[in-house]
Amino acid sequence: MAQKNASCQYIPNDTQRLDIPFIFGEQLSHTFEAKQQVIAVNNVDFGISEGKITAIIGESGSGKSTLLKLIYGLLEPSSGEVRYQGWLVPTRKDKLIPGHDAMRLVSQGFDDLNLYAKVWDNIASQLPNTNLARKESKTRETLERLKIDHLAQQRVADLSGGEKQRVAIARALINEPQVLLMDEPFNQVDAAFRDALQQDIRHIVAETGLTILLVSHDPTEVLAMADELIVMKNAKILEQGSPADLYYNPSHSYTAQLLAKCNILSPQAAQQLGIQSSSAIGIHQEDISYRINTEGSFEVQDVRFRGFYNELIVRHGELILHAILHPIIDIPIGTRVDIDIKRHLVFSNDQDA
Ligand code: ADP
Ligand code: MG
Repeated sequence: MAQKNASCQYIPNDTQRLDIPFIFGEQLSHTFEAKQQVIAVNNVDFGISEGKITAIIGESGSGKSTLLKLIYGLLEPSSGEVRYQGWLVPTRKDKLIPGHDAMRLVSQGFDDLNLYAKVWDNIASQLPNTNLARKESKTRETLERLKIDHLAQQRVADLSGGEKQRVAIARALINEPQVLLMDEPFNQVDAAFRDALQQDIRHIVAETGLTILLVSHDPTEVLAMADELIVMKNAKILEQGSPADLYYNPSHSYTAQLLAKCNILSPQAAQQLGIQSSSAIGIHQEDISYRINTEGSFEVQDVRFRGFYNELIVRHGELILHAILHPIIDIPIGTRVDIDIKRHLVFSNDQDA
């Protein structure tokens, strides 16, 4: 193993742990000692695979950025540990320049970019002047990889949010880190350009074997991109799995609501639909079908335009369900319907129900 991956040069008494995931956290906590103590990460365990895109998702304030900083070594664990390739991640107390040598962090808000310098210089400046030919070719290659070679001579300040984000990623990748960490990387990228950037990042991962860890509070924007999701709530990791696993089989209603506009029903409400369950259930909007029936037990309460489908909101007493109406037909409010549930989710581990 390359010595630069080992922490032993920074933490002399560390020994490599074998048979643990590529990036590994165990009983990891971080408490901020502000006016009041804030437990931002509370006793979490996780494993992250090499060469994959893992997204940390969760509502604002759930501890995602703190977890990312613990993994990079910018913050000191209050207890527990983080390991990279079996070695402890060195932190500020071990190492003068913060951040793991094998990782790069693209932070929120382009803090690292020099807005008044050209794109080329922002990226090339990451390489030493000891080999100018290599500096030139490596910069060109990195610009091409991020599809920003045509912007090389422009000032960063004049670029769009999406282009700036490509520059920030190019700057982080030019030194060939093994892990790229990104905090809310698509926040300032227009929706129309997000998909292309995400797919380009996927290609880079496939080509280079790079490992990516990214944070998002809007999972729908990373669902198509991530191989693995880590779900955070209130400083805890609730669950971890592939996007499809967590979409079709979440253990928590929180996860279902994060990933989609899922209907969440108490056991009593579920019973009104003929579904027996001792815990809360979820019904995805696309799993509800309807039939117009003047004797139907539900009434159409609202119809919302969503583009290629309409959202149909139906009501039976206290029970309100959101369903997808596709193909779109004209259904007046007040129309009576029967509904049919194709499948539902049972939350096996739901403290929020
Ligand atoms: P997220 O990235 O999921 O929005 P953060 O990790 O930034 O969440 O924050 C988790 C919790 O820790 C929040 O309650 C936040 O207010 C608190 N926190 C974050 N940074 C600091 C800090 N430097 N000092 C004190 N509290 C902090
Ligand atoms: Mg954050």
